[in-house]
This record gives sequence, C-alpha cells and structure tokens, in this order.
Amino acid sequence: MLVESGRPLTFSTLLIDEPLDDEVMVRTERVGLCHSDLHYVSGSLSIATPAVLGHEAAGIVERVGPLVTRVKPGDRVVATVTPSCGQCSACLRGLPTQCQRVDQLRVRSRPKLVTQAGNDVQVLGGLGAFCEAFVVGETSLAVVSAHLPPEVACLLGCCVTTGVGAVVHGCAIGPNDTVAVIGCGGVGIAAIQGARLAGARRVVAVDRVPEKLELARRFGATHGVLADGDNEKSRLALLHVQPSGFTHALEAVGRRQTAELAFQVLATTGTATILGLMPTGERLQISADDLVYGDRRIQGAYMGANRFLSDVEMLIDHYTAGRLDLDGMVTAVLPFDQIEAGLSAMADPGTIRIVLDMTTGA
Ligand SMILES: [Zn+2]
Ligand SMILES: [Zn+2]
Repeated sequence: MLVESGRPLTFSTLLIDEPLDDEVMVRTERVGLCHSDLHYVSGSLSIATPAVLGHEAAGIVERVGPLVTRVKPGDRVVATVTPSCGQCSACLRGLPTQCQRVDQLRVRSRPKLVTQAGNDVQVLGGLGAFCEAFVVGETSLAVVSAHLPPEVACLLGCCVTTGVGAVVHGCAIGPNDTVAVIGCGGVGIAAIQGARLAGARRVVAVDRVPEKLELARRFGATHGVLADGDNEKSRLALLHVQPSGFTHALEAVGRRQTAELAFQVLATTGTATILGLMPTGERLQISADDLVYGDRRIQGAYMGANRFLSDVEMLIDHYTAGRLDLDGMVTAVLPFDQIEAGLSAMADPGTIRIVLDMTTGA
C-alpha cells in the first residue's frame, strides 16, 4: 500500500468488499510492474492516499455479482484500467479508451477496500492489483484461456495492449511505413513487435541504453539508435538512418524531450504518437513551421487506443502462432514480498517487464 507519495510501499492487512451487482472479485495471480506505478510512488503523478497501486493484472475469478454474465468463478481473466460502457458517443465511434462514462462505471456505494481501522483505501485505475484480490466491474475484464501463463496474461492489461494497440489502432501502420520507437521498455518493445506484425518496412529502436537496443532487435527492430541526452544529436542520428524522416514516431518513455524528439524526426507527412505518461502539467514545445509547411501530426493514443476485449483475442492468437513474443518480455517473476526489489530492477538495462507472483511472498 502507498501510504504517502515518495515513501516505500508497505504491507498491510486490508478488508475487501464483496462484489456488487455488476462486479467481480478476482484473486490476483500476477501483476506487471509498470512505470506509471512508479510515477505514483515517486509523486510525479498524484493519487489520494492511502492507495493500492498495480494495474497490469491477471487472476482467477473468485466471486461474481448477480448481474455478471460474461465471466464466472474459476475463469482466468486479465484486467484493464479502461473499462467502457459501449453506449456513449466515444464507445459508439469505436474509441472505448475514451469512454465518457468511465467515472460513472467506477462509482460505488461503498469503498472497495478499507484499513483495519475502517479508513477508505484508494485503488489505482479502479483496480489496485498489488493486493491478493481486487474487485472490479465486469466491463474491466477479459477472459483468457486457462492455458495462457498468468505472467504472460497480465502483460495484456497494459504494456502490450498499449504498444501493439498504438500501432494497430492509433497509427494504422502498414508495410510502407518507417517507424521510430523511442524507449524500449514494456510499451516500446510491444510497439516494436506491433510494427513487425504490421509489416512496417523499417522499425528503428531508440534508447539511451545499448543493451535495450540489442533486446529490441530480438523483438523485430531493424535498426537501433543510441539516444543522447542532447535531442539534436539524437535527431541527427535518427535522420542518418532515415534521411527523409519517419512516417511514424512513437514515444514510449514519458518525457518532454523524447516526445519533442518524436515530432522532430518525422517525415513531412509523418505522425508522432505520444504514449508515455508524463508528470501532470507537462508541456511540449514543437516547431510551428514544421506544422505550417509540413503536414505533420502529433497525437495521443491513450493506452494504445485499444479495443480491449477484441484486442486480447487478437494478441493471444498472435502469441499462440509464435508471432508475438510475450514470454521474452517477462524479465523476471518475483514473489510479492520482493516488490521493492522489483521496482528497483525496473531500471536495470536488461529489464523489459518485472512481474510479481501474488500467490507467493507476503
Ligand atoms: Zn501501465
Ligand atoms: Zn462509453
């Protein structure tokens, strides 16, 4: 539990509510450690405390509310932070990650979690998966095969849907595209794999860590560019690989400089897609000339603009057919009580995803 931003997480015994009408209680199996969790730990993004973080989760359905129809006890499920109502104008336009009723979907008559003293505990993204169990609306869950390893399934909840989703839905990348992916963590590696799946002719991985570029090649990058702290040097290195600029640049770091770099390396008709979560209030500076004289675009694709239920099916088919390497993205599986070690290991050069085994440890 996060008692206060900037302080280490603590283990606590909490009381969890029963699922309401359209809710499901899930016994957590595995949770991926995502950089957005770190943002809340460090305080660069704020959440009311105390709070349970963790949002890239797979587990087994334990109990369901009386109105739940799509999942049943015993199902293995993966959760998303972007439930959707299916009825608002965004959902009807096929943009469920921008569902206008997300807040209403999360409204609840009672707290999901309380401390033993009876105080409310917040949950990140409506989930709060750094916990033995979580309660969530049915619309936040996709059922997956019992044969899908849980440490692989959990990745579908955030980094893989975001990275592949951005390529497929946010950018509609195809065989004639030249793609730069800036940042080779979980989301970046997933975007590189997505670009390979989509048949992009060039996929250039960009990172400050040489080991990450080597990893990226294993997942489908055709080139690697070692980024420099200085954007101008990085820009020149990228344009050396692709002199006309990139038709797509995806930013998967969550920093102002890398987002600006994504825009700076575009072809005159290219599109920059910003995926990384940035500190609240961050602003970008881009050249007006680049927009006025070129038909460049810069866009968001929150959570990869994914269509969660159908995307999970798509991703599992590609995984099963050997075209999407999810096993290789799991760098290590650690017991729950080693969460702090896991958060530290996220900074190691060879780390793509650290996954917590919530059934052992604490
Ligand atoms: Zn995440
Ligand atoms: Zn909606």
